[in-house]
Amino acid sequence: IKKIGVLTSGGDAPGMNAAVRAVVRASIYYGIDVFGIYKGYDGLINGNMEQLYVRSVSNILSRGGTFLLSARSKEFRTKEGRAKAYENFKANGLDALVVIGGDGSFTGADIFSQEFDVPVIGIPGTIDNDLSGTDFTIGYDTACNTAREAIDKIRDTASSHERLFFVEVMGRDAGFIALNSAIGGGAVAMIVPEHNWSIDALISRLKKGAANQKASNVVIVAEGCHLGSSYDIAEKVKEHIPHYDIRVSVLGHLQRGGSPTTLDRVLASRMGVAAVEGLREGQSKVMVGVINNKISYTPIGEAIKTIKRLDDDEFRIAKILSI
Ligand code: ATP
Repeated sequence: IKKIGVLTSGGDAPGMNAAVRAVVRASIYYGIDVFGIYKGYDGLINGNMEQLYVRSVSNILSRGGTFLLSARSKEFRTKEGRAKAYENFKANGLDALVVIGGDGSFTGADIFSQEFDVPVIGIPGTIDNDLSGTDFTIGYDTACNTAREAIDKIRDTASSHERLFFVEVMGRDAGFIALNSAIGGGAVAMIVPEHNWSIDALISRLKKGAANQKASNVVIVAEGCHLGSSYDIAEKVKEHIPHYDIRVSVLGHLQRGGSPTTLDRVLASRMGVAAVEGLREGQSKVMVGVINNKISYTPIGEAIKTIKRLDDDEFRIAKILSI
């Protein structure tokens, strides 16, 4: 391997810059040239790329977002689009590709790698933490900290006014951010896509808390939960307990931004180096992960197909502590 390309794709996540920096510096450390590809797969299709050097990635470690920019490329989903991408890949003399993104980006990487026999390694960069083959994805810790910080502030006003707050966090298909911020933020309950909780169960939890003189009530709702939006849930609860003063707060995109936490920076740095070392060892069509604090390589197909389960024990803990 003499020359590799690196791109960020799909939804951005804090720590993507740290991962790019690690890929660039590890490549140069091992005598490999590295090209930054802009705007995800679109950059590969349009030849929007340039060589990066040690100093090209100065001062990005602490920045959220991705300086390579990200995109959702419709064209890359087509055979013609991927053929154009391969032409540019060859024209620029690239030997391998590092893709930083989520499951969609890895699906594209897997198909591209199979079609053109190109070595590809994925680095999991998504706040959702919904990829198998790694305990944590880059950006998840930062997003949880951002959500928890917001919950702390909301709790101040919730307890001053004896209000019930529904706080909606990101997670269309997965409740990782919700579960983590519910424990870290001391929520009375959480509603996540993975569990079939009912409005009745929620109401009895709230009533129990009220009987126990609970001072403030914050319920965390994952955006993709089965009971509808946080506004729908708030309305249903209001029907049952009309005397409650209920408010809703949707945290939205602020969860994607901000300077990455130390944990995310270290994770991204480890994974970036491991991606380059994996390519040097002949790894391909794998995703770098960290399992039990050790670097691992999981076939991309497995990482995207296997559904990562929420930790049952964390669920149990959240319930015990919410009384
Ligand atoms: P996140 O879910 O965190 O936003 P992601 O990587 O899953 O990140 P997607 O929008 O699903 O984000 O995918 C990113 C890009 O990967 C798509 O815009 C597309 O270019 C490419 N991609 C996704 N699925 C496929 C596919 N089946 N074939 C080819 N390319 C794909």
